[in-house]
Amino acid sequence: MRPVKAVIDLVVIHYISAINLNKESWSDLGLILGIFGQYSLSAHYLIERDGRVIETINPVHRAWHAGKSKYKGKSDCNDFSIGIEVVGGQFIDFETEQYNSLNELIKELKDSYPIQNIVGHEEIAIPKGRKKDPGERFRWEKLKIT
Ligand SMILES: [Zn+2]
Repeated sequence: MRPVKAVIDLVVIHYISAINLNKESWSDLGLILGIFGQYSLSAHYLIERDGRVIETINPVHRAWHAGKSKYKGKSDCNDFSIGIEVVGGQFIDFETEQYNSLNELIKELKDSYPIQNIVGHEEIAIPKGRKKDPGERFRWEKLKIT
């Protein structure tokens, strides 16, 4: 549950893949959802390589994607953020379709929530350096944040 007075004003971007389970099928949806189950992880959205967006948890509910985290002095970002997992990895370029979907999704979310900032998991994870996603291959300039 989110805290009753939580203002959902942050979007956290992650990458996820199943590369540790299967090198060839690293982007397989079933394997990735299996990882969520295995580690009790959850994000609100998953964006597949072809740009398909899957809502796994309605953002009115809290999800478990950020872990120990802090943003602008506020701890436990899961309370007040929406987590988006983009299928990819540290050394994998993201697809144009994924950026397009991300932009559409963020635009939609802004209609429903007072989103103020969009950050990468690496920026909010505690301690610093604990997380690397979405990583150097993520092209922030492709996000149309207005
Ligand atoms: Zn992450």
